[in-house]
Order: sequence, then structure tokens, then C-alpha cells
Amino acid sequence: MGEDNGYETIIGLEVHAQLLTNSKMFCSCSTEYQNTPPNTHVCPVCLGMPGSLPVANRRAIEYVIATALALHCEIPEYTRFDRKNYFYPDLMKGYQISQYDAPIGCNGWLDIEAGGKRKHIGITRVHLEEDVAKSFHADSYSLIDVNRSGVPLMETVSEPDIRSPEEAREYLVRLRSLLRYLGVSSGNMEEGSFRCDANISVRKRGTEQFGAKIEVKNMNSFRGVYRALKYEQERQVRVLEEGGSLRQETRGWIDEEGITVVQRSKEYADDYRYFPEPDLPPLVLSREWVEEINARMPELPEVRMARYMSICGLTRQDAMTLIDTRSLADFFDSTIALTGQAKSRAVCNWLLGDVSRLINADGVEISDCALTPQGLSELLDLIDKGTLSGPASKVVLEEMYRTGRQPATIVKEKNLGQISGSDEVLEIVREVIRDNPKAVEDFRQGKSQAITFLTGQVMRMSRGRANPGITKQLLEQELGA
Ligand SMILES: [Zn+2]
Repeated sequence: MGEDNGYETIIGLEVHAQLLTNSKMFCSCSTEYQNTPPNTHVCPVCLGMPGSLPVANRRAIEYVIATALALHCEIPEYTRFDRKNYFYPDLMKGYQISQYDAPIGCNGWLDIEAGGKRKHIGITRVHLEEDVAKSFHADSYSLIDVNRSGVPLMETVSEPDIRSPEEAREYLVRLRSLLRYLGVSSGNMEEGSFRCDANISVRKRGTEQFGAKIEVKNMNSFRGVYRALKYEQERQVRVLEEGGSLRQETRGWIDEEGITVVQRSKEYADDYRYFPEPDLPPLVLSREWVEEINARMPELPEVRMARYMSICGLTRQDAMTLIDTRSLADFFDSTIALTGQAKSRAVCNWLLGDVSRLINADGVEISDCALTPQGLSELLDLIDKGTLSGPASKVVLEEMYRTGRQPATIVKEKNLGQISGSDEVLEIVREVIRDNPKAVEDFRQGKSQAITFLTGQVMRMSRGRANPGITKQLLEQELGA
């Protein structure tokens, strides 16, 4: 942990998220680069040909404004693009169009939950830039695919307010959930559309001055980020404890080996020779435009979670699990709009229980299956009316999930309706008593758990359809309890 040997850990995160626009940041080429033949979505602009001129993508700017608003950032009236100069084989122009001292959003925050307490993590800035091409290395040569060059990339930089790898993970989960709610990024870390670089340093507890800042790159999963930070935290403390010193540098995470290695000594901002992009005019972010984007914002995860707890009466854990996937939370809202708030818990239990089990097994989202809010609300109705028993309702749900058919139709066709008629249940109860003399004897000698066994037998014989209340009543009556 961060408190080891009296050291404190300081972490700041930089997250790059690809934006879900159809076209690239500064040209009209398609952003689809994952499953397309190499170098098919390219033009003079994203190839970096001399004389070509960039035109900014309005939608991408709106996505960054929406994110900045959701992160409680200040949105200045003017913003600007700058050239960040560096040489890199994947960078077509020899510079990247980014933003330097006039980002779209600054001075915001994101709340996380740390050790049962709410914690404010400052957001330094949110800005817009372009992605680079992708290279592939063979034995004696390298190939380059320019399809990714120019895909809009949003960078979110946190303040060094994070104090442990656990908090870092929580921050990433919250940020990704936010971007998904806003519909601005897929947030898929494995595919590279959500990437995280971390700055981490340690210092003796009680001292003010920051230790040497180490930047860690190449982490491709949340787990990777967590492990890399854990590793760095321990390594840095060990170096200092052994009397060594640390210097500012960039290290790469090697997942298979679970270690970080030096990549290069860290560049300073001067090394990039930033200057205003002469081919793009400064951007005016009119208050009307910002207000319009604000008015279109969906209900954000934090607000939704609070509503689930206060109005719907869900536990914190359930509310958190529900909001984690927007499609599930949307499904929950649509269902309780039909059933009424009073059934919030029941709806939540179905969604987080049997429904989640089915969608997780198939690796799909709830929006991809045949189950509808209307269907689930009808199912709950049948259970409430006593038409369906607990076990039988699970069978019906599975059928609804696969086929989308109405629960009432499934019940009728499969003859799954609950048997509440005393005569019918009594017949089964008598048969069970006749077939299980041992259990009946046990019960008569005072072993009360024998009745649980007998009830189970009635359920089994009726294929889960016997009404439990009536079964219990009749069993006791027939056994002369
Ligand atoms: Zn292009």
C-alpha cells in the first residue's frame, strides 16, 4: 500500500479516448480502421502531404465540450489548436495537431469512491488532438498503416490527486462509464480506443516536495494499469530506501513479465516546440453553442446512481452495478416506467440476477437480446398474480430471452402455470406422502426439516408449478401437524 515505510504515492493519469465520430479530425476520411485493409481510408490531409489543409470536425469538438461539461470544467470562449513537433515514424506530418495552452476544458473534477468515502479528483484539462498511424514490424523491415492517422483523440489529464493504484483503477472505471454514457467513446481498452498513461512518484510522508515523476506507458487493460502502478510504487520506495535516487523518465510496462523498463528520459514541453497551428483559425466556443450541448446531455451516471438509491430504494452496490452498463440502466428505467417505482427492487433483482447471467454467458448487451421491458413487466405481473411460481418463472424468462415471445403465451404453451387449485395440489401431496414413508416417519418423530424435503418433492412432481403456500398448508393438514 501507499503507506509502506512512511511513503506516500502521488499519481496523475492521462487518458486518450478515441471519439466515436464517422469521419477523422481534420479530413472527411472514415474513422473505421480496425477491420479495413491497410491504407484504404486515407487522403492528402491525413497522409500529411505538403499543401493540404485541415478542416476541424465539428462533432468531435462537441463531444469534447460535452465531456468537459460532465467533468465540471470551465469552457473558455476561445480555444486553439497547436502543433506539437516530434519525429516518430507513425506521425505522418512530423508534427501532431493538438492543443497546448488553450484547451477546450480546464479546472474540472471527477468524484470517485475511495475506501468507502467520496473523493474529488481534479481534472487539469480536456483537449482534442489527432491519433497517429500504426506500424507493424517484421524482421528486416516495417510496414505502416495510415488508416488510424487523424482519428480524433480526446485527452483527459487529471491533477496529481490520486494516492493509490486502487484509486487509479476507480478513476478509470468512472471516467470510462462517463464517456460511454455520453456516447462519445467506446472506452474499449483492449482495442486501444481508451489508453492510459500514468505519472507516478513517491515521497516521504509529511514532506511537501514531489519526488521524481516517472511516466508509465503501454498498459492495455485496467488490470495492467493497476499492476504497473503497484510495481512502480514498490520499486520507487525500494530504490530510495536503498539510498538510490530517481530521475524523471518514461518507462514501459511489460505485461507478461510484470515489470516496467526505461524507455527514455522524459521530454519537457520545450522539446515539442509547440506553436499555434497556422492552418486552423482560433475556435470560438459561443455560450449559445455550449448551452445547446449542455441541454442535450443525458442523465449522468452519478446523478442516476443517486436517484436509484433515494427514489428506487436500491442498495449502493446494486445501484452501482446497474449504472455500470448504460444499456442495463436504460432497460431498468424503461421497465419501472411500466411497473411503477414500487417494483424497483424486483426489477433490479431480475436484471442483476437471471438476466445478467444469460447476457454474460452469451457475451452480449441487454439491447442485443430479445427480452423487452414490456416482457419483463408482464412476467412480474404473472408472478404477482400467482399465475407463475418462482422456479417456473425462470424457465419462462429464458424462453423470453431467446425468442422475445410474451410470457403469457409461453406459460400457456408449456403448461407452466402455477397450480393453486387445492384439489390438484392435494392429489400431488397425497402421492408424495405415500411414496416417502421414511420422511413422513421422521416428521412425525419431530424432525421438522422433513417437511422441507416433502415440499421439495411436491415441487419436483409438479415441475415447480405447485403454489408453495398451498403446498405447505396441505402437507401440514395431511400429516396431521
Ligand atoms: Zn484523410
